[in-house]
Amino acid sequence: MRETAPQRTAPARARAEIDLAALRANVRTLRGRAPGAALMAVVKADAYGHGALPCARAALEAGATWLGTATPEEALALRAAGIHGVRMMCWLWTPGGPWQEAIEADLDVSVSGMWALREVTEAARRAGTPARVQLKADTGLGRGGCQPGDDWAELVREALRAEGDGLIRITGLWSHFACADEPGHPSIAAQLDSFREMTAYAEERGARPEVRHIANSPATLTLPESHFDLVRTGIALYGVSPSPELGSPADLGLRPVMTLSASLALVKQVPGGHGVSYGHHYVTPGETTLGLVPLGYADGIPRHASGAGPVLVGGKWRTVAGRVAMDQFVVDLGGDEPEAGARAVLFGPGDGGEPTAEDWAQAAGTIGYEIVTRIGSRVPRVYVDGTR
Ligand SMILES: *Cc1c(COP(=O)(O)O)cnc(C)c1O
Repeated sequence: MRETAPQRTAPARARAEIDLAALRANVRTLRGRAPGAALMAVVKADAYGHGALPCARAALEAGATWLGTATPEEALALRAAGIHGVRMMCWLWTPGGPWQEAIEADLDVSVSGMWALREVTEAARRAGTPARVQLKADTGLGRGGCQPGDDWAELVREALRAEGDGLIRITGLWSHFACADEPGHPSIAAQLDSFREMTAYAEERGARPEVRHIANSPATLTLPESHFDLVRTGIALYGVSPSPELGSPADLGLRPVMTLSASLALVKQVPGGHGVSYGHHYVTPGETTLGLVPLGYADGIPRHASGAGPVLVGGKWRTVAGRVAMDQFVVDLGGDEPEAGARAVLFGPGDGGEPTAEDWAQAAGTIGYEIVTRIGSRVPRVYVDGTR
């Protein structure tokens, strides 16, 4: 049987280079910011679009000792791919979820309410193995988690009963911030107070959690009193700033991991007054050249960045001309005539003069998280190691 030619020799329509050396450096930086805590690498949503398995491996090499995902399916897929011997937690459960598979795969599962506690204890009975359960408190986010007061009292009481019956181990007590990306926001101190009260309540009644945790990336970077035993970092691992208010990635000591680029599919001259792309929202101001970038909203390029998103072509920043379409968009090259196939860089670390994910977030009225996470599966991820 003949081997097929390696794909990587073909010129790529587009690619997302993922610099695993940068990711490892970010893990080390974050560990330095939270020296007393263990680090959980949050690799949900395919590692925010960067590829869960290679990013999980790189994070573990650099000293992460926990992995975190939203759904149990994401965590189970990492186990099935061979990630063993490391603690792994998943928190987004719905009734009928794969509790027994999670127990058998040695996952830590999150429980926010009585329905989940009942399902996990039943699954533990079937599995014949105690489940590792982390009780989640809503300390003020107003999303997941158990409300303080009677709800928390009941959940703690019943979880301790299940622990006494040998069906679960309460391995963690945890919560999540609402406004950690806005340092000084009054909800931060209020949530920390509530977290201390809710954890103390459970511990006074006999809970012996291995880890108490509440810090996400912005809290890890700005709020040492939130670090407790474990920090759960997502966006910062990928070198994207949690918010412009906290500064650029460089200000935070982080290096962007993803560089998104494409090969120009066409360069052509057009006269002045020429409408460009659907709706003709851009009309050439005079004779000029247009470059066709073969990426569109199916690839995660936000349609809201129509007329605004920045692209580096031939050393100059160009702007999306007119609407972003499903598979392509156009830039006005102002008379320059790069060859078809010339590289257009949408975003990267920025030190080659290219825009950053933060620039695209601003152009689209969103956050850097959404820019990197939505890059679609049609864009191949190419793993490099600082050699970009
Ligand atoms: C996504 C997520 C994180 C990571 O948040 P970042 O701001 O990306 O660091 C941490 N904890 C929970 C519960 C999450 O859902």
